Amino acid sequence: MQGADRFEVLIPEADLQARIRELGAQITRDYQGRDLVVVGVLKGAVLFLSDLVRHIDLPLSMDFLGLSSYGDATLSSGVVQITQDLSRPIVDRDVLVVEDIVDTGLTLSFLRETFVSRQPRSVRICTLLHKPSNTRKAVPLDYVGFTIDDRFVVGYGLDFEQRFRNLPYIAHLPPQDPAA
Ligand code: 5GP
Repeated sequence: MQGADRFEVLIPEADLQARIRELGAQITRDYQGRDLVVVGVLKGAVLFLSDLVRHIDLPLSMDFLGLSSYGDATLSSGVVQITQDLSRPIVDRDVLVVEDIVDTGLTLSFLRETFVSRQPRSVRICTLLHKPSNTRKAVPLDYVGFTIDDRFVVGYGLDFEQRFRNLPYIAHLPPQDPAA
């Protein structure tokens, strides 16, 4: 893909898919007999969610939430607005929020508070990636795919200026060579 050669593979496709299979099996065990609604946060979580639900062997429904945060796209401001709300109420439902990445935790903290106020039976969080070194607001993460260093990553749903979401792997910009 044009421009993708600037990036270096951080998590190859096979590793992503193997871990997603494990997460799906774990979620299947944990939610036996429950009324699960899987909520994807647009747009970054779409690829992860669509692979994850194929490994959850339970009856479930899916819904999506659009969020926009203000300020520099690469620096989370914590000021978040819902741009597209859920299509159905979540009262008394078991909600599994699926996120692409938790960085400062500010987005997720907003989301968790919003959802809890709607009186679901439970709210759990599943994130593909977690950057713990950047935490500003600690939110309990129930399922984490991979813990990564504080580096800007793209691919598998994650963008840089809306591009690169369709890479089947997670990539990052390699550190600059000071001699180059
Ligand atoms: P937080 O509020 O936890 O700081 O940020 C979460 C959001 O910031 C993610 O949903 C994602 O949109 C964006 N984000 C944080 N780190 C990265 C990154 O390394 N790459 C990309 N593409 N987006 C990121």
